Amino acid sequence: MMGAYVVDASVFMYGLRVFGTIYTVPRVLSEVRSSDAEVILQTFIKEGLRIEEPLQKDVDAVTEKAKSTGDYVKLSQADIDLLAKALEVSGTLVTDDYSVQNVAARLGIETQQIRQAGIKLALSWRRRCVGCGRLYDKETTCPVCGSEVKLKPAKR
Ligand SMILES: [Zn+2]
Repeated sequence: MMGAYVVDASVFMYGLRVFGTIYTVPRVLSEVRSSDAEVILQTFIKEGLRIEEPLQKDVDAVTEKAKSTGDYVKLSQADIDLLAKALEVSGTLVTDDYSVQNVAARLGIETQQIRQAGIKLALSWRRRCVGCGRLYDKETTCPVCGSEVKLKPAKR
């Protein structure tokens, strides 16, 4: 059975694949700046990523709890929105942020660390030259034919 997951920006930065119903919030998208993360984000969108504002009542509940634990000052507005969305959809929050995990625990939200085993995450991206098709680790321009090297999702 595949669950609902709420993912933070690091999922796009690390290029992790998450399978299930995936949510994020609009504020997270502004944290996605690198071109690789942008490609990964666009792939998630094609695969049905839901980008939704959280409900105000959930934002209020998260804010109140975060203030009571002392984590509020360490959380960004994007973090609070993610926690609120996880409350709303009863989703598992995928994050490596300690303060987010702490507040989530107090709210009864399950979390998965990005490096933790157990969630179906896999590094399944590769860099392929659009000209000759050679695969690379880091290059953005092909040293053989000079074409652009693009990040591509590997087949599931
Ligand atoms: Zn090439």
